Amino acid sequence: MTLRLRTFCLVAVTLLGFYAVLYGISSTIFLGSFKRLEHKYMLQRVELARRVVNSLLETQSLYVRDWAYWDDTYAFMQDGNRQYVRSNLPVATFLQLDAELFLYFGPDGSLFEGFWHNGSNVVTAPPAAWVAAIQESGRFSRLSAKHPPASGLIGVEGRPLLVAAAPILNSNAMGPGRGTLLVGRFLDDRRLQQAARPAGLNLSLVSRPNDVPVSAASPVAVRTEGADAISGYVLIADDAKRPAAVLRVQDARWIYRQGKAGQHYLMANLAAAAVVFLIVLMHLMHRLVLARLKRLDRGLARIRDAGEADLRLTVEGNDELGMIAVSMNETLDRLQKVQQALRHEALHDPLTGLGNRSLFFQRAHSALQRLRENQSAGLAVLLIDIDHFKRINDTFGHGAGDELLTVAAERLGRCFRESDTLARMGGDEFAVLLDPVARKVDAVHLASRLLESLQEPAFHNGHPVRFAASIGVVFVGGGHIDIEQLLREADAAMYRAKREGRSRVVVFQQAMHEEFSAGLPL
Ligand code: GH3
Ligand code: MG
Repeated sequence: MTLRLRTFCLVAVTLLGFYAVLYGISSTIFLGSFKRLEHKYMLQRVELARRVVNSLLETQSLYVRDWAYWDDTYAFMQDGNRQYVRSNLPVATFLQLDAELFLYFGPDGSLFEGFWHNGSNVVTAPPAAWVAAIQESGRFSRLSAKHPPASGLIGVEGRPLLVAAAPILNSNAMGPGRGTLLVGRFLDDRRLQQAARPAGLNLSLVSRPNDVPVSAASPVAVRTEGADAISGYVLIADDAKRPAAVLRVQDARWIYRQGKAGQHYLMANLAAAAVVFLIVLMHLMHRLVLARLKRLDRGLARIRDAGEADLRLTVEGNDELGMIAVSMNETLDRLQKVQQALRHEALHDPLTGLGNRSLFFQRAHSALQRLRENQSAGLAVLLIDIDHFKRINDTFGHGAGDELLTVAAERLGRCFRESDTLARMGGDEFAVLLDPVARKVDAVHLASRLLESLQEPAFHNGHPVRFAASIGVVFVGGGHIDIEQLLREADAAMYRAKREGRSRVVVFQQAMHEEFSAGLPL
């Protein structure tokens, strides 16, 4: 799995987790506050429903007062004049006042006369049970002159009856009271809705009060009816504090729906923000990390494939990735130094610091190659072996021998050009590759100078130490010759120099081959 994919998955999962937690929090806290608001709103609507019932009673009270404080009614209570009934209590009056009952009680509370408009086109005497239920309370059937008008609700055969009553007085509201006039009408959905319409209330009467969560102890309740509707219930008690009716206010759950829409809007915005965040994060990660890592990787591959020790990574910026590039470059520096040291060690002699046998072979190989390709005028090899070096070791010790080998190397080194190669071949044997050299005589001349410089006395602990060397010279002006043969010939010449008494220069000649092979004693 790539770093990019892993980061993407991790961030996406984290964001999803946050999103789920936020959704949970918004559902409980955010929507919870909308539900409380909705509940509060419904309680206000329920209170409004109560006022609607009161307003119905108030209108009823207004006209019952007009009728009760009226000389005609006052007279009717004394003489029972039928003319009063005929002209004042036709069906039209009931319809106009939206009343169902007109009850005239005598001062002792007994029914003097009662009229009931039962919905058909007739006015008749009211059912005796209704009258008895009204008389039972006493508050609406026996009002004396000093009583103010009264109104309220009475449960009559399970139905709520709105009643308004006033003592019957003359038109100046003076007594003595001749009884009580009561006007009644049943509370039903039609009357409720008509009265509630101006307030915009959807009000109705609950037909089965047992199914709703209200009681005398807690007369108001709010209940949701699914996701779209909510109802508020209020229990209205009658004059004797008995449950008379349960009203229901129904409303759409627009507050809750608004909360839900707000929550969805919020969550949609958060989701969009999360997607934008993810895109920006991945883009930044690409620019700041992944693209740079890729460039680092490419740089490393280039260094590895090119095999050039001098190549280094490009350092971008001063941050952690920049520091990685710096420390990789430092590691490459160190490796390069170690490599150089190893290479130097492999090609140089640790005692004298001169090139060793391997370096000599490499250079001689190249020089012979150039010669073969006619790019060089000629080359010469000088093989130098110090005479009786063992004696020096034996006389002055191995340390002094080392010292003198270093001195010899130094003196030999002074006599050469940049293009020549001086190497210690082993023990007290040195080799020089003169490249290029045009004539044999030049090589011989140089060998003689070398010999002279070696013969100068050296000092060990203040004592002069003399030494010399035997030098074999081979000159190659062209043609095919390999390095082994070249060295063999130089060796043969050097061998001859030893034999001829040492401390001299001998140039190789073909005849020496046999002598050398015969291995004559030195
Ligand atoms: P010859 O004149 O025939 O060359 O006699 P030689 O004594 O020089 O003997 P030869 O060249 O055959 O041997 C070289 C000697 O140099 C052998 C060894 O004791 C000594 N030797 C070799 N390597 C070292 C070295 O690194 N340090 C020292 N001090 N002596 C060495
Ligand atoms: Mg020697």
